[in-house]
Amino acid sequence: MDDYNKLLDRAIDQLPQKVFETKRFSVPRAYSMIQGNRTIIQNFGEIAVALNRDPQHLLKFLLRELGTAGNLEGGRAIMQGKFTHYLINDRIDEYVKRFVICHECNRPDTSIIREDRIFLLKCAACGAKAPLKTL
Ligand SMILES: [Zn+2]
Repeated sequence: MDDYNKLLDRAIDQLPQKVFETKRFSVPRAYSMIQGNRTIIQNFGEIAVALNRDPQHLLKFLLRELGTAGNLEGGRAIMQGKFTHYLINDRIDEYVKRFVICHECNRPDTSIIREDRIFLLKCAACGAKAPLKTL
């Protein structure tokens, strides 16, 4: 876990200061490779940091969408089965649409908060709060 935290710190350091203030939010692309029967997303930790989301949450979503099992190893995600870049990035785009972009103002300045037992997507830009489906 220590290595992973270091990797996250490094990824945060490398982020431009005002990454979320740019007009057009660009979702980082996943770099994946297939090794045997597994697919490895090399920059998974960095994607999670760029999206300001818990890597476990993003991974859980991906695994469910792809119908497979997997785990985090350092900053990488290792998934059972063979998946193309195209499919992985398509699913990450879907994650961003559902769990990052504000449904009201379409900005990415959001965080996931918990009120009682409900998870909400809270927007720092317009103040909107929208309930999220749990994964
Ligand atoms: Zn908003």
